[in-house]
Amino acid sequence: MSIPGRKQLPLLLSLLVSPWRGLPGQLIIQYTDRCNARCPQCGMSVMNQFQRTTLGLDQAKRMIDDAAATGIKAISFTGGEPLLYLDDIAILVNHARKMGIEYTRTGTNGFLFANPDSPNFMDRAARIADKLAESGLYTLWISLDSVDAALHEAMRGLPGVVRGIEKAVPVFHGRGLYPSVNLGINRNLGNQRPPEVFEPLSFYEFFRDALHAYYRRVCDMGFTIANACYPMSLETGVGGSAPVYAAASADTIVSFTRAEKELIFKALFDTIPAFRSKLRIFTPRSSLYALVRQMAGDEEFSFPCRGGLDFFFVSAKDAAVYPCGYRGQEKLGALQDLSRRQQKKTFKCRQCEWECFRDPSELLGPAVSLFTDPSALYRKIIRNSDYRRLWIEDLRYFAACDFFDARLSPKYQRLSHFDQLKNPSRMKNDFHSAGEAT
Ligand code: SF4
Ligand code: SF4
Repeated sequence: MSIPGRKQLPLLLSLLVSPWRGLPGQLIIQYTDRCNARCPQCGMSVMNQFQRTTLGLDQAKRMIDDAAATGIKAISFTGGEPLLYLDDIAILVNHARKMGIEYTRTGTNGFLFANPDSPNFMDRAARIADKLAESGLYTLWISLDSVDAALHEAMRGLPGVVRGIEKAVPVFHGRGLYPSVNLGINRNLGNQRPPEVFEPLSFYEFFRDALHAYYRRVCDMGFTIANACYPMSLETGVGGSAPVYAAASADTIVSFTRAEKELIFKALFDTIPAFRSKLRIFTPRSSLYALVRQMAGDEEFSFPCRGGLDFFFVSAKDAAVYPCGYRGQEKLGALQDLSRRQQKKTFKCRQCEWECFRDPSELLGPAVSLFTDPSALYRKIIRNSDYRRLWIEDLRYFAACDFFDARLSPKYQRLSHFDQLKNPSRMKNDFHSAGEAT
């Protein structure tokens, strides 16, 4: 068993003792379900007819106040398209920070960067960057679904947006804000579709090659941070009712079988090491490892999701709190009535792969299990040296990435320790080279 280095001990210890003070809570506020894009992978596409709702500034500010009072440490403002309300979002981010919530996130489909050849484009990009930078935003994601710009724009219904994003990224950097590119994994990720007939090795190789091409492309575009959204293809929410968060679809573009998901997670797991020194990649490999095991039938290998325990979702349509975006039958009521400590601590959910909740649940899992399920801690951290090494490496990498603070420039010297070519032995435990990729 390898012992973490002295430099990692303070970080590890602070994570391990955090449950005594209460696990840092996370709240995702769907500010609006309005959107101007037509993504086939999403129920909020502008093509879908339903009554749209937006929370409004006063209501959202009250939620932030209540969240701060219940110990929430991270808030995401999602949509729909949040930047349809750019001014509101900037005010809300600023308000959250004043209430002591440092970790704030929002994102965009990039519609504000359309028409990159218009004469006022650079001024427009600078105004957007200034507003978000001044708000103190911690994370800004910009969606990009495919290596192929034309395919991305056709899927989103936003012509010209990729070149606009490419022009806007350095403007943001100049304002001290480093956006994260956000990949929603889908079948249009590469330059061509995956093979029609499913064959495991060619399916795996298709996604591995497409992911390599994608990361190369976003490096060329100037991005310094990247995240991946795992495919969400729930036709119904967990428990049979509709998901309260409609960012899912039954469309074949994001619908994958368990066998296919297992291979996609392996492809991502195997690709990330080649780019960790060039891009700050949020996706933790320990989480991918656990999801591969889960997809392969080892259901209880991953740590249970903290959705409904420490992480929550507020829906735009009724301003109510839910355990997550997918347990739509479990309305928890208003935020101010919610005491996180009264939630049922024994419920273990692994019913979807929503990375917003699953990734941090996995990373914080060892700390939680120390108090709730020591046998899981023993099984995964003490007995499984592969998992333990991945988890410690993820923590070291997160520290080298300044915990993905979008207000900080990348420290390439620190990231170089994770260069696959310079440190091949550290990276050798990938599923493919271990002969486990089918
Ligand atoms: S994925 Fe985002 S941009 Fe696309 S339709 Fe849904 S909410 Fe809009
Ligand atoms: S795994 Fe998490 S996000 Fe998914 S349904 Fe369960 S609580 Fe919700």
